[in-house]
Amino acid sequence: MAVVGFDVGFQNCYIAVVKSGGIETVADEFTERCTPAVVSFGSRSRFVGNAARNQIVTNPRNTVFNFKRLHGRLYQDPVVQTERANLPYDLVPLRGDDDADDADGRVGAKVFYLEKEHQFSVEQVTAMLLTKMKETAEASLQKKVVECVISIPSFFTDSERRSVLDAAKIAGLNCLQLMNDTTAVALNYGIYKEDFPDLNEKPKVVFFVDMGHSAFQVSACAFNKGKLKVLSTAFDPYLGGRDFDQRLVEHFCAEFKSKYKLDVKSRVRSVQRLWQECEKLRKLMSSNSTDIPLNMECFMDDKDVTGKMNRAKFEELCADLIERVTVPLVAVLKQAQVQLQDISAVEIVGGAMRIPAVKAQISKFFRRDVSTTLNADEAVARGCALQCA
Ligand code: ATP
Ligand code: MG
Repeated sequence: MAVVGFDVGFQNCYIAVVKSGGIETVADEFTERCTPAVVSFGSRSRFVGNAARNQIVTNPRNTVFNFKRLHGRLYQDPVVQTERANLPYDLVPLRGDDDADDADGRVGAKVFYLEKEHQFSVEQVTAMLLTKMKETAEASLQKKVVECVISIPSFFTDSERRSVLDAAKIAGLNCLQLMNDTTAVALNYGIYKEDFPDLNEKPKVVFFVDMGHSAFQVSACAFNKGKLKVLSTAFDPYLGGRDFDQRLVEHFCAEFKSKYKLDVKSRVRSVQRLWQECEKLRKLMSSNSTDIPLNMECFMDDKDVTGKMNRAKFEELCADLIERVTVPLVAVLKQAQVQLQDISAVEIVGGAMRIPAVKAQISKFFRRDVSTTLNADEAVARGCALQCA
């Protein structure tokens, strides 16, 4: 039986397997290696991953996404209420079974599915996602998959961890280990390197920095031949690509209100469309510093809208977010008790590390160029798979 590594991201998930001595990431039926963390419910069927992604705009009320931070929380939890404000689908407090009333008040998603109302716990939704990933892995390996290693953010609490394990169980998976994102990245880095000092020598110190869609995580690690020690970890659980998108969304909502008299937030589909367009715009700004147009036909009330943005203006809108990048860096360096000059490399991973200002902020702090030895998107999944090799 094969053991598989799953990186369950806030936005993007990856599957890695051990195959003929190496680690490979696996593609789905669309030949995509990324499985979006989206589950969409229709009147006849359910879609997961790439098949569900477009439904965020076309069927926003019944498409569950951005749900990872709901794990292990009650509906009343302030974190849940903050998330809820930005979600187009309904969250509800679940009622426990008669014999398991500890489930009372946990958060769930309310959707219309197969012509009637359903309430799914976050564990059930993640289980649907994991089931899809399990099937993708099985199709690639031509083997049954039961055992796995799943990544989680290093700041996940016990109840969040338990909730992810419950999801794995519902998906028929035996999760051998939950692995911190940054530890998985370090393991992936270490396994192929030959030039580490002997055990009795001074270790090579590498910092790993990961910014995803929802969170920012950093770790300091010491490597000797065959040995990896995590010296310290730090994080900002609320700093990721989506926070930068939100600034753009707010900016264009205000602009469209004054320019076209449109109240974008009053229409769920329009808001979701704007979020998607702003994310595209933000990605384009990573490789282009000139003006980038934002054009949407029939955006609202049959009106076409246009706008533009450039990198300098974007950095102005996000100046405080860029500043916040430094906070976990200070903490991780202090806890690791190493001097800047003793660091061998600063490795960056995660999709949002492609934002030039974020990368520059990290470079400035460590007073060196950052390294991109690892595959920024797949490093976490690969590390999880390595743990089972
Ligand atoms: P998390 O780690 O928070 O759970 P995740 O693992 O799903 O989230 P990643 O897949 O690492 O997140 O990164 C997704 C983020 O990276 C998104 O915000 C996406 O917009 C951003 N991103 C991807 N490519 C680029 C790019 N070229 N420029 C800017 N941002 C990018
Ligand atoms: Mg991630």
